[in-house]
Amino acid sequence: TVTTQAAAKTTPTTSANNALSDGLAHLRAVAEQQPNPSLNTRLGWLQALKQHIQAQQHTLAAALNQDYGQRPTLETQLADTLPVLQQLNYCHRKLKRWMKPSRRHVGLALWPANAQVTYQPKGVVGIMVPWNFPLMLSVGPLINALAAGNRVMIKLSELTPQFNQVLTDLLHTALGPDVVHVFSGDVEQAKRFAGLPFDHLLFTGSTQVGQQVMAAAAPNLTPVTLELGGKSPVIITDDCPMALAVKRIAAGKCLNSGQICVAPDYVLCPDHRLSEFVEAFLQHIQQRYPDGLASADLAAIISPQHLQRLQQLLADAEAKGATVQTPSSSAIDVSKRLMLLHLVTGVNDNMRLMQEELFGPILPVLGYQHLSQAVRDINQRPRPLALYVMGLNSTQQQLILQQTCSGGAALNETLLQVGVDDAPFGGIGPSGMGHYHGHEGFLTFSHARTVLRRGRFSTASLLQPPYNRWWQKLLL
Ligand code: NAD
Repeated sequence: TVTTQAAAKTTPTTSANNALSDGLAHLRAVAEQQPNPSLNTRLGWLQALKQHIQAQQHTLAAALNQDYGQRPTLETQLADTLPVLQQLNYCHRKLKRWMKPSRRHVGLALWPANAQVTYQPKGVVGIMVPWNFPLMLSVGPLINALAAGNRVMIKLSELTPQFNQVLTDLLHTALGPDVVHVFSGDVEQAKRFAGLPFDHLLFTGSTQVGQQVMAAAAPNLTPVTLELGGKSPVIITDDCPMALAVKRIAAGKCLNSGQICVAPDYVLCPDHRLSEFVEAFLQHIQQRYPDGLASADLAAIISPQHLQRLQQLLADAEAKGATVQTPSSSAIDVSKRLMLLHLVTGVNDNMRLMQEELFGPILPVLGYQHLSQAVRDINQRPRPLALYVMGLNSTQQQLILQQTCSGGAALNETLLQVGVDDAPFGGIGPSGMGHYHGHEGFLTFSHARTVLRRGRFSTASLLQPPYNRWWQKLLL
């Protein structure tokens, strides 16, 4: 590996600490020697990344399949590999323009002078990655950080060991030890990583851990971008064709078995259409997975603990009076960690599944009488990462968008707002802070440095003491 081996006598903790701080020291030294990599160097990094990912996409998908126990290759290609390749292409095309200094207006008071904002690399960036889309959520921010000219350290999740091995080798081969260092390891290693004095730290994970990461970064005054989670609602409006709503919601909820930060978390449906939705939704899930739990198109739940958590959420809701419906009588296989979609009605705010992010194949459905009530319901909860509207009436669409706030939103679609290469991605409040993707990603990892340039003559020299000159009275 590119990290140094600790001496034989040191404890595992000390050696892990050393590997992290040695990695940071090495990258910082490189960044000091070559503080501003040229456009061509950066394009070369992006090109190398693209070639290696394209060449190894099947190995990466196979490794992830092993980590999960079962994860459809097509889902990995669609939601992990494809977005990364698209972002690479987009960034490659736009980088020259993004790197250009931008000229700014200089007021009369500063005349004669000109001013520019230049975009400098911040230095060494840390990226912390969860297990659900580990390619997109590691290489995605890496693309932006490299485009901005930084060196990067990545900490991968402890839940994807096979994948980590393949990606670590890939990144070290594609970019080399002067550009990127990749680490795996447990929660203790993650805590040490978060406490390193990076020049910027991007964390993707839960809101609770996000708070701890921000606290760990605070003593170093390391700026953080937090890509967190939350409960993303879907509103179905009165006029929405039910087949459309059902298909789009199912697409967003079933991918990776709902283990997606922007998956629809719960549905708000007009009261008088509730039974229509439930029936159509269960029928649709049956058609999607005709073999039920034997379907090879189902992604497994990542760990026994996560499956247990989901089962406890269901048990809590049922104990408090909710009704759970599934497309087939056998809907959970504990040994394979497979779980079909569970639709839950009769829910209320006392149930844990309306208090916690679900992050799995459970979909609570709540009825509403008037649209204003659905909007109020959303606004009473913490600001979500995504908000979805299923309905073709543009007045209602606008009303919902204007009266709510969320990280991103999509109308008559789910998830795909994340795939807009040219748009920022990020949450608000408890669902995150800061953005990446596209130009905003480049800006996140750049220092915007204002440079004022003057020649021999300066009006400022006319305003020096002694303050009794006649022109000073004229000027001010
Ligand atoms: P998590 O927050 O439980 O864990 C993330 C990582 O943090 C783990 O790898 C763990 O090692 C590390 N960690 C745990 N405690 C830590 C601490 N005190 N200090 C530093 N690091 C620590 O999240 P997860 O289970 O890996 O992923 C699921 C969560 O991530 C969901 O909430 C989901 O919404 C969110 N998520 C958000 C996005 C996004 O882009 N906004 C994308 C994917 C997932």
